[in-house]
Amino acid sequence: MVQDVDLNKVVRQHLEMEDFFTGFAVKGKARGQGAARVEEVHCVEGVPPPQRGQDAPDTQEPSRASNSDPVKELEAIAAEVGQCRQCELGASRTNAVPGEGNPRTRILFVGEAPGADEDAQGRPFVGRAGQLLEKIIGACDLKREDVFIANILKCRPPDNRDPRPEEIINCLPFLQRQIEILNPEVIVALGAHAARTLLNTNKPIGQLRGEFQEYSNGIGRPPIKLMATYHPAYLLRNYTPDNRRRVWEDMKKVLVELGLPVPERGKGS
Ligand code: URA
Repeated sequence: MVQDVDLNKVVRQHLEMEDFFTGFAVKGKARGQGAARVEEVHCVEGVPPPQRGQDAPDTQEPSRASNSDPVKELEAIAAEVGQCRQCELGASRTNAVPGEGNPRTRILFVGEAPGADEDAQGRPFVGRAGQLLEKIIGACDLKREDVFIANILKCRPPDNRDPRPEEIINCLPFLQRQIEILNPEVIVALGAHAARTLLNTNKPIGQLRGEFQEYSNGIGRPPIKLMATYHPAYLLRNYTPDNRRRVWEDMKKVLVELGLPVPERGKGS
């Protein structure tokens, strides 16, 4: 029966997700060994804590004025997103999903658009794809609160359809401003929509992932390194060892770029 097959698949995936990188990656290290993490955190609503520049001087100066407060600036953007009615998604949403995380993060994850769970809660990546994203972040020996998570679109497209070009054009300035404030060292673009939008290209994700690309951060600002990788929802639908290995390889490059330790079992993979 079709239903039995689907159920089996869901149960199997759930068990496999418990050990996302088992067999070729991670596990083992105690949390808190990664560099550049600080315990105290100021979260933007919906926005939690790695930190840069609290214990040690920044090597990468943010472009914003030094007296600006990223928490307040991110909250202001979140408030604007909450009022936004620039496209029809503003009328159909339950909650806008501006994004959340550590305002001093070194890594920004960018997905496509909120789904049903995110729309219901007003928070990014809180459904099944979010659970997998948290596994991936955990495999890097990081926590969700260490990073910032946002989307290209801040409102849910009905029935989870693909974002439309005019929606992206309307919504992208919010993300661009968030990136300017966060000034992360690395952006991880989750899936084709995020990668293509941020890189302004139509290339397939298979050609974009695996090597660092550059996100243009506006005139006068240095570009930001961008690693594209598979979207967790794609990974859930195509949960093969090869795809999981590819994602892990992408994430290892991010860790190396940031000078963070690559968790033990991941080293040889
Ligand atoms: N998929 C996304 O791209 N973003 C979310 O927030 C949730 C699922």
